[in-house]
Amino acid sequence: MGNGIKAIRGMNDILPSESYLWIHFEQTIHQWLSAYGYRNIRTPIVEQTDLFIRSIGEVTDIVEKEMYTFIDHLNNDSLTLRPEGTASCVRAVIEHNLLYGSPQRLYYSGPMFRHERPQKGRYRQFHQVGVEALGYAGPDIDAELIVMCARLWDLLGISGLRLEIGTLGDAQSRALHRTRLIKYFERYRDDLDEDSLRRLHTNPLRILDSKNPQMQNIIADAPRLIDDLDEASCAHFEALQQILQAQGIDFEINVRLVRGLDYYNRTVFEWVTDQLGAQGTVCAGGRYDGLIEQVGGKSAPACGFAMGVERLLALMQDSGQPITQPAPDIYIVHQGQQAARYAWKCAEFLRGEGMDVILHCGEGSFKSQMKKADATGASYAVIIGDEEAEAQEVTLKPLREAVEQARVKLTAVTELLRK
Ligand code: ATP
Ligand code: MG
Repeated sequence: MGNGIKAIRGMNDILPSESYLWIHFEQTIHQWLSAYGYRNIRTPIVEQTDLFIRSIGEVTDIVEKEMYTFIDHLNNDSLTLRPEGTASCVRAVIEHNLLYGSPQRLYYSGPMFRHERPQKGRYRQFHQVGVEALGYAGPDIDAELIVMCARLWDLLGISGLRLEIGTLGDAQSRALHRTRLIKYFERYRDDLDEDSLRRLHTNPLRILDSKNPQMQNIIADAPRLIDDLDEASCAHFEALQQILQAQGIDFEINVRLVRGLDYYNRTVFEWVTDQLGAQGTVCAGGRYDGLIEQVGGKSAPACGFAMGVERLLALMQDSGQPITQPAPDIYIVHQGQQAARYAWKCAEFLRGEGMDVILHCGEGSFKSQMKKADATGASYAVIIGDEEAEAQEVTLKPLREAVEQARVKLTAVTELLRK
């Protein structure tokens, strides 16, 4: 496309040949969440920049280099395309006082925006489904969130996901850990990369999350947070493990699990696959007991997770399960003026009976219309000539099985198709 305008790098069109998969996915998601009593919340795609800085943390990859931030020149506000959904969800919950009186099980889905290097499974506009349980101290709710994920993988026909869990303790144990980390990494000052060096004193926990292969040896021997853990967080983590075991959920404890956002405490978890190369995390979350207060609300515990829709769809496509493109039930072929009028009437009648019906539009010989009918994948052609119209009947021709066509009354069509 020579000088034409193209979509923005890392932002994808989802064409009809794929969108039916998305719809299948979305329908499954809504049913699954409703089975657990989670209710949908929809927030704007743009928020005040401060919301994300305050919640995700100043010294994180997202805030430092991935946010689409711009000045709204009409009033000089600094706005940001949401890079994730928890911050907006918490903002809305506070703004509308939703936690007054009762905790909330909520979920959202939609596009998120991060200026990353586009590659398979990593885009600049990508989609998440996020689930948040606000006002619950856990660990039962932490377990619920994990158990419901396991059910979803079954519903989607995805297998081979590994669950990793970890704990980040409370603010005090993290502060202690932070001091130990700084002391440890100071010894390797000369080997730290630019990002890590910069974060050494501002946010040393972030160094543990580095994806730089050259850093991995140093990181492997760093002090472990689990050794600095406070008693209450320890008990919380134990209780979570017990529920998971009782529910038959396999997990591995990953003492190095550091999430890319600063607001997490205590429970963190990730569902990981080996089938998508470097982009192996399909779902990730944890507890964020301090966030609601941090964003300006009355202190309340909470836990949640978000999953990457593109990555899950890639797994569904690779799993080889047949999710077929939906085809119409009927394609109506017609020729002649009187037939055209009757064809319109038939189409509306059949749709009213719950059928998916394509009415041929435009000119076309009988033969070319039949070709089009076949190409749509329709199960039946309903053929109407002036003769049929006169008799208020149609010719019903099965397109997918070797059965003779038959002249029938319109009401008989619905009866035949229901069989
Ligand atoms: P990663 O380690 O892969 O960068 P993350 O820790 O930044 O992931 P989260 O912020 O926890 O990711 O988002 C939750 C999920 O959203 C991820 O596990 C992933 O499946 C998906 N995700 C995150 N960033 C992208 C992206 N740029 N493109 C596609 N999916 C993404
Ligand atoms: Mg990331």
